[in-house]
Amino acid sequence: MFKKIDHIAIATDDIEGALSVYRDIFGIAVTYREVFRELGVEVAALRIGESCIEFVKPLDKDSKVAKFLQERGEGIHHIAFQVEDIEKSIEELKAKGIRVIPDGIKRGIEGKKIAFLHPKDCHNVLIELTQKAEG
Ligand code: ZN
Repeated sequence: MFKKIDHIAIATDDIEGALSVYRDIFGIAVTYREVFRELGVEVAALRIGESCIEFVKPLDKDSKVAKFLQERGEGIHHIAFQVEDIEKSIEELKAKGIRVIPDGIKRGIEGKKIAFLHPKDCHNVLIELTQKAEG
């Protein structure tokens, strides 16, 4: 069902500070950086081989990512698995007792379809399913 790790998302309040380590010291190229109003975040993505590290900064203090930062501080926020067919994957997972977060399928960065699985069903890790945009 899962093709690869699409990205690992790290919550931060300080994208510049993160880039000064991951881009400037580690030498990982930034592939995109974008303010994403619909999801309430700014994202900077750095590609390593087939996967990305995404730094995610909340745009307002009431967002889910802001709450995560308040409760846990900076760190890994979620892991995203790429799937071929997100609707089909969700159905299969639901049938096996894995809950999907009620927001359902949303439009993510680069036109991807995304959905999140309930962390309580995934050993306290927030898992994102992501399907590439067509074309
Ligand atoms: Zn993500």
